[in-house]
Amino acid sequence: MNVYRYPINQPTLPDLKSYSPLLKKIFSSRSITNNRFVSVFEKEVQDYLRVKEVVAVSNATTGLMLCAHAMNLKGKVLVPSFTFNATAGALIWNNIKPVFVDCDPLTFNIDFSDLEKKITPQISAIVAVHVFGNPIDMARLQRIASRHKLKVLIDGAHALGSRYRGRSVGCFADATVFSLAPTKIVTSAEGGLIVTDDSHLAKRLRLLRNYGNPPDYNCRDIGFNARLSEIHAALGIICFRGLDKFLRLRQRFVVLYKHSLRQLPGISYQHVDEKDLSTHNYFGLVIDAGRLGVSAAVLLKKLLEKGIQAKRYFAPPVHKQAAYRKYHKGGALKNTEWLSENILCLPFYSHMREKDIHSICQTIKNICKIRRRSWRL
Ligand SMILES: *Cc1c(COP(=O)(O)O)cnc(C)c1O
Repeated sequence: MNVYRYPINQPTLPDLKSYSPLLKKIFSSRSITNNRFVSVFEKEVQDYLRVKEVVAVSNATTGLMLCAHAMNLKGKVLVPSFTFNATAGALIWNNIKPVFVDCDPLTFNIDFSDLEKKITPQISAIVAVHVFGNPIDMARLQRIASRHKLKVLIDGAHALGSRYRGRSVGCFADATVFSLAPTKIVTSAEGGLIVTDDSHLAKRLRLLRNYGNPPDYNCRDIGFNARLSEIHAALGIICFRGLDKFLRLRQRFVVLYKHSLRQLPGISYQHVDEKDLSTHNYFGLVIDAGRLGVSAAVLLKKLLEKGIQAKRYFAPPVHKQAAYRKYHKGGALKNTEWLSENILCLPFYSHMREKDIHSICQTIKNICKIRRRSWRL
């Protein structure tokens, strides 16, 4: 049970009345995995995003693992550290060494100058993340990748619905993987979607998600079970139909939060280019403790006491985590470490009410006021 009045995140679920007719169909067909609803789901996403191929999988982590294998990534791969650990974990499961790259302190996305510095002959690809759904500058990333003949795999776990220069972020890489986990904008309980323009790659991925097992049972390629069930696909279809509405609401919530906190000094926000659209999978405050009078750590503690579940995404960053530290050979990732220290994400989900946002902001303002007053004494 969630003990918080305002959880950091909650899945936005459809009415059971719209889900149960699909469940009935699935039950009566007795085809309960990787069948008709999976195909329907893939087709709907393909039409909406205007991409060539969509391959549904059991989750984004297995999607990334299969892509790394099917795209023949090997040796070393550049990857951000300001991300969820699965971005790097999926590579290590493929025996690929991650080379951690710093982030940009304004966009939170991969830092291009650090990225270019770390390109060596051993690097086979760039894996990058649209952090919190904020589209990476894909033109710039592609220029760097093609100059050095590197493949581009995108962890778009947060970014189903995000648009770069008006088009889905899925249109701009060799492959992009979206997540349908409960913390993401569209959920199928568990699930993932791989998007690519390469029909050869898509065909290989479809085999690989089913152990690599071809009709003649003579495997030429070793995959594993990464199938999406029909039950999950049906939930995904209905949630996905709400995407436009979720996107509209979330843009509005960002405006409300910023407006409500506008008088507080020392708070800044992730920069999203005005030509782009972010899902705002998470909404973070970047806190300048000296100006605000409260550090991110203290504000976090006080908010939790008041039943507001704030969280520090991503802290610790991947290159500092116990299991990942040994892969980090370079020096400090200054922006990543600074951002992890100073970011605080607030409750944010598509079915929030405006009064929830006002109440959360009022609590933040009260905490800051009390702290600043006690400082002056
Ligand atoms: C959620 C998330 C994942 C993992 O997605 P699953 O569908 O749970 O496997 C990977 N990368 C990032 C950045 C995420 O936020």
